[in-house]
Amino acid sequence: MSNRKNPTRGTASESRFSVMEFMAEFPDDDACLAHLWRTRYSPDGEHALCPKCGVERIFHKYSNGDGRQSWTCTHCGRHVHPTAGTIFHKSSTSLHLWYYALFLITSTRCGISAKQLERELGVTYKTAWRMFNVIRNSLMSQDNLSVVLSGDVEMDETYLTRKRRLSDGPGQHGRSLNERVVMGAVQRQGQVVVKYVPAANMIEASRLARVHLLPSTTIFTDEFRIYDSLEGLEVAAHYRINHSAKVYVDGDVHTQTIEGFWSLVKGGLRGVYHSVSTKWLQSYLDEYAWRYNHREFTPRVRGVKRVPVGEAKFRLLLALAARPVR
Ligand SMILES: [Zn+2]
Repeated sequence: MSNRKNPTRGTASESRFSVMEFMAEFPDDDACLAHLWRTRYSPDGEHALCPKCGVERIFHKYSNGDGRQSWTCTHCGRHVHPTAGTIFHKSSTSLHLWYYALFLITSTRCGISAKQLERELGVTYKTAWRMFNVIRNSLMSQDNLSVVLSGDVEMDETYLTRKRRLSDGPGQHGRSLNERVVMGAVQRQGQVVVKYVPAANMIEASRLARVHLLPSTTIFTDEFRIYDSLEGLEVAAHYRINHSAKVYVDGDVHTQTIEGFWSLVKGGLRGVYHSVSTKWLQSYLDEYAWRYNHREFTPRVRGVKRVPVGEAKFRLLLALAARPVR
């Protein structure tokens, strides 16, 4: 029997951190600001390192005339603003809406569009789009160079087509000129790295491998000749699946993991974003890589309750948002 006053969350839900729970923890701007204060400066909400005194002091919350709140050192009077330097700094959007946007973005499996964000937040489309862009570019853009893969790694490329105009002729090899090439590498049971590249060629394939793969890697690709360039690399082994002979899996030799990631990206771009301009394509790819790379970042430990994935992502985004923007 379910209890209406204390609803249980479905186990299949990506979030399992409901909007009711979000609102209970973050009911208004003050709650969000206090959370930011504690996350950035003061774990107990009262003591913090005073930048002027140079030692830990007691701080009191202080509201100035224009309603802007800060915490003030009770010894020297120095004000500390929790939002200073973060993505929330000088934003005309309330902190509560920002937090709600972070919640919404992490509570869906495949992402949410600026259009949905506009409806949910009750802000203009332009504002929703800008918030999303900041969240994606400041918080979700993986530091691409820092992803290092090893073990069993699948590499592949995919083509994302823009809407064609009649005036566009076909490109080389029958491909549309408007096709954009994306290359990726995924470690089985591990992380993915994904790049929008100017062309599918040997140089790009070998660059991706050189930058992101350790020498202990076993690479799996199909037989497309651009992956010939990997033969000269110092890796453990390179196995190729013969897709042209309609072989897709031969024991360990397959590229099903990266193909699964491509279908996530393509489904998402179709369903959520409809069309993505070339300028922002890498940032959308980064968002998908971020979601994929944090799909299970709380490891399974026997006897320990795991934090639901959606909630864990939300907490991670909050922690990232509490850092000053570089
Ligand atoms: Zn002080």
